[in-house]
Amino acid sequence: MRRIAIVGAGQAGLQLALGLLAKGYQVTLATNRTAEQIQAGKVMSSQCMFNTALQTERDLGINFWEEQCPAVEGIGLNVLNPEVPGQSLFSWSARLERYAQSVDQRLKMPVWMDTFVKRGGELLIEDVGITELERLSASHDLVLLAAGKGEVVNLFAKDPQRTAFSTPQRALALTYVQGMTPVSPYSRVAFNLIPGVGEYFVFPALTVNGPCEIMVFEGIPGGPLDCWQGINDPDQHLQKSLELVRRYLPWEAERCANLRLTDDNGFLAGRFTPMVRRPVLTLPSGRQVFGMADALVVNDPITGQGSNNAAKCSKVYLDAILAQGSQPFSGQWMEQTFEQYWSYARHVVEWTNSMLQPPAPHLLQLLGAASAVQPLASAITNGFDDPRRFAPWWFDASQCQHFIQSMSQQAA
Ligand SMILES: Cc1cc2nc3c(=O)[nH]c(=O)nc-3n(C[C@H](O)[C@H](O)[C@H](O)COP(=O)(O)OP(=O)(O)OC[C@H]3O[C@@H](n4cnc5c(N)ncnc54)[C@H](O)[C@@H]3O)c2cc1C
Repeated sequence: MRRIAIVGAGQAGLQLALGLLAKGYQVTLATNRTAEQIQAGKVMSSQCMFNTALQTERDLGINFWEEQCPAVEGIGLNVLNPEVPGQSLFSWSARLERYAQSVDQRLKMPVWMDTFVKRGGELLIEDVGITELERLSASHDLVLLAAGKGEVVNLFAKDPQRTAFSTPQRALALTYVQGMTPVSPYSRVAFNLIPGVGEYFVFPALTVNGPCEIMVFEGIPGGPLDCWQGINDPDQHLQKSLELVRRYLPWEAERCANLRLTDDNGFLAGRFTPMVRRPVLTLPSGRQVFGMADALVVNDPITGQGSNNAAKCSKVYLDAILAQGSQPFSGQWMEQTFEQYWSYARHVVEWTNSMLQPPAPHLLQLLGAASAVQPLASAITNGFDDPRRFAPWWFDASQCQHFIQSMSQQAA
């Protein structure tokens, strides 16, 4: 049977590893943190996954938390009035066709690692660089690098045509909390856009000690939400989160009267540059390594797509590996397989990047119209599950007009 090595025990690497094991492949998974270190470490993501991505996990029988994890049943948007602090310009919400879910990666990845070993996979704990990639590529038919935002992914060349930014577009912070008042009549990602300042969104999830809510702050660099430097203490981080919510979003502050952090590691702050990289790395020996998910296409979390992309990339790669049978995994096969993934991922990149810019006038009109036209709110909400649905109306002013008109007629 063919031998496949995967570097990185995240959403992409582990999901692919478990998928390949189920098909009888010999799989080696090399990663730089043990299950215990992940469990005892800081939160890494808000990892909200929508139905199509969740289905890829169900198909592999690795959706172990589906029953316990709170459902995210919809999406709501509140755009603040830039003229009147604390006042909403417009707001709307709509239900997702099927629920989304977020399982803390500190809970999920250790269990998937354990499952991988129990099902016969070989798990290596090592920090992989060129030497290790050479070793793995000498003894395996294919080596995949799914190291997320790890330094090692910089071995892949940046793709300048497909990369829009050269600096981070948001200062990011996560605060995992319990005690927040739920929204009714259905749970949702409550997304708040504060013009010129950034975004705040919050939604239910499952963490190491039960259900929680994850607060996500996206601050425009240099602005008032870019304020996390020097805050290393969990309580200080929580207090800063509360202060921001009280200052900008009174309706969200009302939900936060009895808030506590889930645990002392339930917070994170940082920033990174969204980027697209070339998919194939040629080692000094001439052997090739194939990148996947965040290692190649890393988006700002503003649209909550990274784990979804990782799951979908994993599915594209699994199918391509299986279809290859006993034929070699050439550089050309790698390029083609990546292009297949990119034909989906490019839509996510384009949409996500548009959200990082000041909104174009037609987008403000679209988002505003959705507060009166429910089918519009529903179309935007369900686009999160498959951002290909946003083309062409999200990007083109005249297509957007047509779309608003046709949805308004539908509503009437
Ligand atoms: C603040 C924030 C909020 C987010 N919110 C969401 C959201 O709501 N929804 C969503 O879908 N996505 C979200 N994401 C993105 C999502 O978490 C990632 O896109 C996703 O985890 C990527 O999966 P991956 O498998 O490619 O990489 P990762 O999950 O990052 O896994 C990489 C793995 O590689 C290992 N590794 C790294 N370097 C090495 C090395 N040298 N040697 C060996 N192993 C190595 C790491 O330890 C890790 O196990 C968010 C991200 C952030 C930062």
